[in-house]
Amino acid sequence: MTIPLQRGIIYGPVNSRRLGRSLGINLLPLSLKICTFNCVYCQYGWTRVHHQKLADEDLWPKMKTVVETVKQALQTLQPAPAYLTFSGNGEPSLHPAFVQLVEEVIHLRNLYAASARTAILSNSTTIFNKSIREAIARLDVPIMKLDCGDEKCFQTYNRPSQGITLAAIVRGLSEMKNVTIQSLFSEGAEGNFYSENLTAWIEQLKKISPRQVQIYTLDRGYPSDQIFPVTKEKLLELRDRLAQENIRAEVFTRER
Ligand code: SF4
Repeated sequence: MTIPLQRGIIYGPVNSRRLGRSLGINLLPLSLKICTFNCVYCQYGWTRVHHQKLADEDLWPKMKTVVETVKQALQTLQPAPAYLTFSGNGEPSLHPAFVQLVEEVIHLRNLYAASARTAILSNSTTIFNKSIREAIARLDVPIMKLDCGDEKCFQTYNRPSQGITLAAIVRGLSEMKNVTIQSLFSEGAEGNFYSENLTAWIEQLKKISPRQVQIYTLDRGYPSDQIFPVTKEKLLELRDRLAQENIRAEVFTRER
């Protein structure tokens, strides 16, 4: 069972597995998910809208509305959240005013919640765009998706929109400093936790040199019936394999 879309521009603060008390900022429309991926594990279900509506300005929350909403939340929330996190109903960096919104949110954080850190959960597909890459780099904690090391896995697992390649994503991520990589692993016929992919994924990580890799598995609902969670033991083994390559990684699982 997948979960419903976020119904507001802000949500939470939620107790995030990876960030602690985090105020989500949803720059996506409230009525549909827009994403350049169609991951087999997406908690919001299958992607119905890839690119075709991106140019329709009326779909997106207006910049002024986003700024006012975040401002009001920060003025009233006590205590302040630990993180202000761009996330929500799809890929946040697709918002037409994303670059300016990053500046606005950093400004609001400085004014009203100086102790909070800014973050993004991104699928990395816009990272080839220099201005978006620079905006993401302005955030304290850019958390960028890389689930696959080879193109075959990428096409089956993340199901990108036409024209998006794994090679371009890895190139863009390699140009970022201090990036955190997020990788969600699943077993099964449509999963990514198989030997060839793991080896290729580690090779890609070596090119990127991330500050940290966050490893986790299925937790919420997901649309594919061809995947299932990876055990914590296997994820810890993978973490140890990364340590041998001097790549710092952490496993996040919810205790059951
Ligand atoms: S990138 Fe995120 S929002 Fe987009 S399909 Fe994958 S899990 Fe869903």
